[in-house]
Amino acid sequence: EKGKPLMLSPRTNKILGIHGLLPPKVETQEIQALRFQKNLKKLHDPLEKYIYLMGIQERNEKLFYRVLMEDIEALMPIVYTPTVGLACTQYGHIFRRPKGLFISILDRGHIRSILDNWPDTNVAVVVVTDGERILGLGDLGVYGMGIPVGKLCLYTACAGIRPEKCLPVVIDVGTDNETLLKDPFYMGLYQKRDRSQAYDDLIDEFMEAVVDKYGQDTLIQFEDFGNHNAFRFLRKYREKYCTFNDDIQGTASVALAGLLAAQRAVGKPITEHRVLFLGAGEAALGIANLIVMAMMETGMTQAEARKKIWMYDKDGLLVKVSETDSNQEAFIHESPGDVQSFLDAVNAIKPTAIIGVAGAGRLFTHDVIKAMGTLNERPIIFALSNPTNKAECTAEEAYTLTDGRCLFASGSPFGPVTLSDGRVLTPGQGNNAYIFPGVGLAVILSGVRHISDTVFLEAAKVVEYLYAKGMAFHYPEPVDKDAFVRATVWKTDYESFLPDTYDWPGVNFSPK
Ligand code: NAP
Ligand code: MN
Repeated sequence: EKGKPLMLSPRTNKILGIHGLLPPKVETQEIQALRFQKNLKKLHDPLEKYIYLMGIQERNEKLFYRVLMEDIEALMPIVYTPTVGLACTQYGHIFRRPKGLFISILDRGHIRSILDNWPDTNVAVVVVTDGERILGLGDLGVYGMGIPVGKLCLYTACAGIRPEKCLPVVIDVGTDNETLLKDPFYMGLYQKRDRSQAYDDLIDEFMEAVVDKYGQDTLIQFEDFGNHNAFRFLRKYREKYCTFNDDIQGTASVALAGLLAAQRAVGKPITEHRVLFLGAGEAALGIANLIVMAMMETGMTQAEARKKIWMYDKDGLLVKVSETDSNQEAFIHESPGDVQSFLDAVNAIKPTAIIGVAGAGRLFTHDVIKAMGTLNERPIIFALSNPTNKAECTAEEAYTLTDGRCLFASGSPFGPVTLSDGRVLTPGQGNNAYIFPGVGLAVILSGVRHISDTVFLEAAKVVEYLYAKGMAFHYPEPVDKDAFVRATVWKTDYESFLPDTYDWPGVNFSPK
């Protein structure tokens, strides 16, 4: 290929053969970045910013990543939570060009040949969703593609993994979202979710096709699958493939890191905490199990550690009589008395920390937050549900109702809060985005075959270290500082396609 197609292709448009097709000025990336940033500032609607940014990603990938990396704090809320959530709900309406790979249940038996259609052959990391539980927004079917695309943007922006090594995938087995099934712009199959053996076979085939095409050590990240399938697939594939579930394991790591960091302020070792979860699903169980591992490292028994953790779901507190699934068994305890509400649970259990991962909105009521403030000098309040409107409480509520004493983190970012006495408190963000790019990079570089939970325990300690050193609110740089890692980090500078030509001044080759 030459000329215009190369000019329009985001990977090659800095190549030769385009003379006369562009204005005469040879523009530096600095100037292009400046134009991009100025235009971005003119937009006030986050969704418009998302559309603009994603357009740049299509037209000039290096420019996109340069601007993203230079201002990751301001732009992460656009390419990632909360705006990516809005973009997913509007996916069919704001659609410009396809990104990522779409595999449907009708493609059974052909996944391997679909992979051959993907232009890059060197894929090292795949993020896959089936769209059933997109953030706290529920079943968005193929509209969920925004999530793998956004996650992989962070793999590149935060861990320097080359974009062509990243493959976003959505698996379409239908959707149970009635609104989407009536939406003329919906882009997936207009059918209810297939929950038969065919779905399992499809995922099996997908896993096999990925390693057949890209190798056994390809990292496959499961993202935003429904609860039942998330746990099943993790168990089924964790010893067979290089895979992890971000909602269970990545989230666990970042939440544990938050608790470990909070220890310092609270002045209590992790073993002396009592943690009450709102929600008892993927995130809650993942976090709880990792907390147990961290407590056991200090010599506590598993049984003792589990007793420190309580869960409250849609049906109330998990106690001996309640209906629970097998994943939850470890955290079912004798009833602490009459508990009718989450507030009752707080008062009965007297937790040092409450962690919200229900995806059901503002359930840390003012009374709950005040009760935490009465029970603890430094209460830990993590409102981890995404996007922002699903958070269990706002940063402002948490700080003002505890006179600024609480240690707060949220899944989606909140701005700083000014208290009535003039103090300004900056909330932390507790999101697996602080974990998966770093873990992913380490996994890819070291050629790991299977990823154990201890990897996430270690990652939590790295994040704790960053918090301790006051670096925690910067985007997760590759943690390993050694030169090998550095050398692999992708650069956004344009590459020169020109041969290296120069003059030999004053040399005369004419025969004398
Ligand atoms: P999940 O597996 O579906 O679990 C949701 C849990 O919340 C279930 O136990 C559910 O109970 C419970 N629940 C739902 N509505 C409730 C209510 N009104 N009161 C009490 N409990 C309720 O989902 P998940 O993967 O854990 O994700 C949940 C939320 O966490 C989402 O909003 C997601 O965005 C967020 N999350 C955040 C991060 C992060 O990095 N910050 C990472 C992953 C997930 P039933 O089973 O009884 O319905
Ligand atoms: Mn997720």
